[in-house]
Order: sequence, then structure tokens, then C-alpha cells
Amino acid sequence: MAGIHSGNLILINASHPHMESRRPALAPAVPGSSVLLEARAAAMLTGALERIGALGEIVPVSGWRSNGEQREIWEGSMAESGEDFTRKYVALPGCSEHETGLAIDLALRADEIDFIRPDFPCDGVCRRFRDIAADYGFIERYPAGKEHITGIAAEPWHFRYVGRPHARVMREMGLALEEYVEFLRGYPYPGELLCAGGGGYEAEIGFTRCYGTHIAPSSPYQVSGNNVDGYILTLWRLPA
Ligand SMILES: [Zn+2]
Repeated sequence: MAGIHSGNLILINASHPHMESRRPALAPAVPGSSVLLEARAAAMLTGALERIGALGEIVPVSGWRSNGEQREIWEGSMAESGEDFTRKYVALPGCSEHETGLAIDLALRADEIDFIRPDFPCDGVCRRFRDIAADYGFIERYPAGKEHITGIAAEPWHFRYVGRPHARVMREMGLALEEYVEFLRGYPYPGELLCAGGGGYEAEIGFTRCYGTHIAPSSPYQVSGNNVDGYILTLWRLPA
């Protein structure tokens, strides 16, 4: 059984630390890279970059980090750049999405890349990646204008894998992950669920506080903890 603290939709922020101690199944973020991601997120990232011909042009800078690495990054940034900068751009050790393997920092290829704030501009190939990211399940996790909700300054280079239907809903509605987790409380399972679809699939999305044997949808489904207080269900509606 899935736990509240694991799955593609876990909310990780300063109030909701990463609780899962098992290391995810990891794979190179793109073929040949030493940057690692959770295996499915890596496959989807590679697929997205292949589609726009950007492998080698857009490069992974930082993916999965152990708690120890996150602590080193935090302490290094505090020593080099001070507390104000660090609190803005570096998540507290234990509260970083990078520890889940579902977050990736991307950069436009360059001779020198800033590890904390890589350059990922709004135009060119980076723009093309943004345009299709949701179709591959990625959201821009710390958008400008949502700093008061995410607690992190705008980071146009940081993407988070949440899965396609969820990424598309969040993008269409302009919701940060914090807001999406709240929003789904309005769709308790079983009951009227949120319909999401387009692009050859249809899904229904709902929230439940308890997950167990009484949940047996008649269609294929996935479950993820929200890392707060319950589970997000994704029910796939197969074409008739
Ligand atoms: Zn990041």
C-alpha cells in the first residue's frame, strides 16, 4: 500500500518535510548524465527533450540529492552567499524536492553553469521545453508571483515531475502544487471527481483521507500520497 509520504504528488516545502527514507529507483536524468532522477521522471524528461531536439542543448544541472548533499548545498550557500540569498533559493535540508528524485534543475548549455541559479531563459529551446513540459508531467514548481505560497523565490529552471494529467490541470488553472493539493479536497472520492483529459487520454482525479481495501475503482488507477493528510487518486478512463 502506498504511504501518505510517497508518490508523484507529494508536497514538499518548509512545512511539509520529505518523510520517505527509502531511496527512489534512480536513473540518469538523460542518457549518459551523472545527474540522477527517479526512473520514470528521467524517462519522461528524456522523452520531452527528444521531442524538441534539445538533448545536449538543455542540460540537467541537479536532480536527486541525498539529505546529506542538500545539507552541504545549504551550508555552502550560507557560507558563500549569506542567509538572505540561501533562504530564497535553497530549500532547508529535509524540505527539498530534490530529495525525492522528482525535481530537476535545467540549464541552457554553456561553458559555465551556475549550480544554484542556472540560466534557463524564456525564449528559444527553453521556451519550447516549457510549452510541452506539462504533456510530459512536469510543472514549473516555483513560478514568479507564487513566492508567498511556495516560500521560494521564482526559479524558472526548477521543474517537478507530478504526472501528466496533474501537470496539465495545474498549468491550465495556474495553480502551484500547494494550491493544487488544497483544490483537490473539493473532489472527495467516491463522489464527483475532477475530469482531466485531452491528448488521447481521460482521467478522473480525486482525494481521499484514507486509502485501503475499500477503494477498488473499476478502471486502472494510480495513488499518491499528498504528504499532508491523504491520498490523490488518478483513475484512467480507457477509450471505449
Ligand atoms: Zn531545484
